[in-house]
Amino acid sequence: MISHSFALQTERRGYWLVVNRQQLYWPAEQTGLWLATAGELAQNFGEPEQSGDLGQWQGQPVFYWVVNDQREDEYNWQSARALLAYGEDIFQLAARAVQVALFLQTHRYCGQCGSAMHLVSWELAALCSRCGHRCYPRIAPCVLIAVVKDDQLLLARSTRHKAGFFSILAGFVESAETLEQAAVREVKEEVGIEITDLQYVGSQPWPFPHSLMTGFIARYQSGAIRCQPNEIEEAHWFDIRKLPDVPPIQTLSGRMIAQVVDELSK
Ligand SMILES: [Zn+2]
Repeated sequence: MISHSFALQTERRGYWLVVNRQQLYWPAEQTGLWLATAGELAQNFGEPEQSGDLGQWQGQPVFYWVVNDQREDEYNWQSARALLAYGEDIFQLAARAVQVALFLQTHRYCGQCGSAMHLVSWELAALCSRCGHRCYPRIAPCVLIAVVKDDQLLLARSTRHKAGFFSILAGFVESAETLEQAAVREVKEEVGIEITDLQYVGSQPWPFPHSLMTGFIARYQSGAIRCQPNEIEEAHWFDIRKLPDVPPIQTLSGRMIAQVVDELSK
């Protein structure tokens, strides 16, 4: 069994993010992180399965507190995605909290020899004292690609999205691939076209469950749209003045679409 990453002292005070099965304790009336002592949290939630440091917010330490199966008050638990509305700082801490909680839950035993693992104290890692196998929280890089052709943007609807909702193309980076190679490959696989002039835009942690989104704007080079079966429902070139429903501006894809519209409108 993994031990607490710090000895729990009831007077420990700071901001807390309480995680329960990938959801965060966030009642409707809460407008920022919850400033409290560990003792106050214990009164509300009982002993945590795990707790530890997450970083800083407004000059105070931020901690996570992992509980399990406390779902009596359904309304008070939110996904990290809902916390995008509270700004990048809070979203980032929320993303870290749910990813750390998932890491702790999925690394109780060693993947190499099956023995119980324990947390090392100087970094966030699980270590097997029997065989020395060490694990770090998993981060899965993804590429988002906004493909531009004249004053048109390529948008696709995946099989997971409802009719009328489109986004830029996205895919996971494979082993031993660069981000740029992944972008070129994904566009070719998903819609059958070749791209060029890749331009890095930025990145965003996306804790569903442990992705790191990276974004590129690219220019169309050649080919005609041919959608990958079971993956892309439809894809079209959209005039930037007549875009369909797209992701909100708080997401990296939403930001990239806005950037393309802005650049092409000049
Ligand atoms: Zn082991």
